[in-house]
Amino acid sequence: MTTLNFNTQAIREGYRMTTEQEHSEAIFMTSSFVFESAEQAANRFSKEEPGNIYARFTNPTVEAFEKKLAALEGAQDCVATSSGMAAIFATIMTLLKSGDHIVASRSMFGTTIVLLNDIISRFNIDISFVDLSDLQAWQNAITQDTKLFLLETPSNPLGHVVDIEALSKISKNHGILLAVDNCLLTPALQNPIALGADIVIHSATKYIDGQGRCLAGAVLGTTDIIEQVHGFVRTTGPSLSAFNAWIVLKGLDTLSLRMEAHSKNAMKMALWLEQQNNIEKVYYLGLESHPHHQLAKIQQSGFGGIVSFEVKGGLKSAFKLINATEIFSITANLGDTKSTITHPASTTHGRLTDDEKSYANISEGLIRLSIGLENIDDLMADISKGL
Ligand SMILES: *Cc1c(COP(=O)(O)O)cnc(C)c1O
Repeated sequence: MTTLNFNTQAIREGYRMTTEQEHSEAIFMTSSFVFESAEQAANRFSKEEPGNIYARFTNPTVEAFEKKLAALEGAQDCVATSSGMAAIFATIMTLLKSGDHIVASRSMFGTTIVLLNDIISRFNIDISFVDLSDLQAWQNAITQDTKLFLLETPSNPLGHVVDIEALSKISKNHGILLAVDNCLLTPALQNPIALGADIVIHSATKYIDGQGRCLAGAVLGTTDIIEQVHGFVRTTGPSLSAFNAWIVLKGLDTLSLRMEAHSKNAMKMALWLEQQNNIEKVYYLGLESHPHHQLAKIQQSGFGGIVSFEVKGGLKSAFKLINATEIFSITANLGDTKSTITHPASTTHGRLTDDEKSYANISEGLIRLSIGLENIDDLMADISKGL
């Protein structure tokens, strides 16, 4: 069979009609499934016969989402989880054991850093943090116990990028698994597996839902890896609900259209911000002034919706600008049709120490925008109120 193109897969993959012949995917809101006979129950439990048993294990709506996302990421298999954090936690707890070592990017989602430092570290798993873009630093951090490289590219909020293909050569040489959190670009703009990553992790809460309605997550990779992660999820319980699966499943239909529109709006905003007084610096991968622009242009098929900038005057000016906006929602969430505005130093990155903040370039004047799908002229006018 020929491989279908992205938008066809995004709309058609994983769709399985029931006898009611519904055109939109059904939501199977049920915790358990009934067997035709005692024999069938026994065969399902012994895995002699495939099929549903209990929604913590499998659910048809969840499976439809998993199949579709796997096709879009070019992965053999996918397991959905109740949130992005559940996906990251399940990946680590499945693939590592006491005594193992993780090399992780310093520039990751705040809660991922907290998960590693406060929870994973309690299980005798060592973590070394390195500068995302510095291939030599990844190489140097490897020990004989290293089992996992964990990163997000591009990073949030400043859009640092690592060369996934080059890093995957290092990881493969040492038998290390490379896991990429692809939340910020989604498969519409970046395919880590095609670049050599072993595992892709998603917070589907962000762009995959795309409309701020629910939490969801996913882990993707080879059948062998995903079977293990699925076993962990099935046993420990962070399974995705059928209703939330249906939301993110429908989100995938329009994913590439939305990502294109987010990127287009964000590019316009970044170019406009560069022209304004009272702004020290604009961070957007689409700008030629961004140090990682060239690499992003090769590795990604778009630059995404996150634009960050530093206002002159530090915290006071940043708060004044945020409070002056009337359209932007003041919230830490991102990847929504609604544009959002955040002060990372006091919110998403507030738990970092001053050293970590300064290392990650999270200054007091830094503002992060997640550019939504409103009219861009209205958004620019909204920002100019506080400048
Ligand atoms: C939000 C986010 C997460 C966590 O996802 P939840 O669905 O909120 O648990 C993980 N990684 C990145 C990059 C995120 O932005």
